[in-house]
Amino acid sequence: MSGPDGLIDTHAHLCDPRFDPDREAVLARAGAGGIVTIVEIADRPAGWEASRSLALSANGKETGPRMLWSCGFHPHYAQEAAGFDFTSMVGAARDPDCVAVGEIGLDTVKSRSSRDDQIRLFREALEVAGELDKPVVIHCREAQADTLRILRSFFGGLSRRDGAAGVIHCFSGDIHFAEGCLDLGFYIGVDGPVTYPSSGPLREVLRQVPLDRIVLETDCPYLPPQAMRGQRNEPAALGDISRKLAGLFDRSPDEIARITSENARTLFRLRRPRRDP
Ligand SMILES: [Zn+2]
Ligand SMILES: [Zn+2]
Repeated sequence: MSGPDGLIDTHAHLCDPRFDPDREAVLARAGAGGIVTIVEIADRPAGWEASRSLALSANGKETGPRMLWSCGFHPHYAQEAAGFDFTSMVGAARDPDCVAVGEIGLDTVKSRSSRDDQIRLFREALEVAGELDKPVVIHCREAQADTLRILRSFFGGLSRRDGAAGVIHCFSGDIHFAEGCLDLGFYIGVDGPVTYPSSGPLREVLRQVPLDRIVLETDCPYLPPQAMRGQRNEPAALGDISRKLAGLFDRSPDEIARITSENARTLFRLRRPRRDP
């Protein structure tokens, strides 16, 4: 073992147009900030190819973080899923740099699609993940009961308590939802909101989650940590989230990096990063 582990950003949207002017610089800052691996999350079929090629080109370079991607179909786009041929999702997600299916899930806050359409899409995408035996990246906003019911119907009998099922990204539920997800073998994704002064209730729930089931994410360009409120978020900000967790769990930042990166490698079934220090 030599030196501290780098951090893994398990949820980024670097294909977002807001990164068009300076994507290379953002990746360079991530590398300089100790981010060794980034999982790019594609949120709809129109974005799958861009995510695949971003990972491919980043991995062809000598420097910078390793990039992987996840093949998703966000509930916001559920109305586009009517008549969609999900065999194309199976094909796209077979790419060797594609480590998961998601983000997929349910959202009743800013939903542009009906609950029925969202549930239908969610189930179809979970079938794809099952067929490929890939972990899932779950988006759940104000839909805890439906999400847990559907996840139980897919993962309930599998006794995957080791965390191989997937991740509840940007976790924002109560302790009962957290426990239900942990029981099914899910990791809990922690991002910028953990640093917000108003997030006391969230921190209370996270304190009760075993540290070996937590992964870090930025969800950039969204959800900047407190020090960057109002600005575009980016993977280099992951250190702020890691330091907040260090305080919450009374561990050193190095320990948080080592544990959460090991968790992310288990979750996405990665070998150690090729440029790990
Ligand atoms: Zn999301
Ligand atoms: Zn996202």
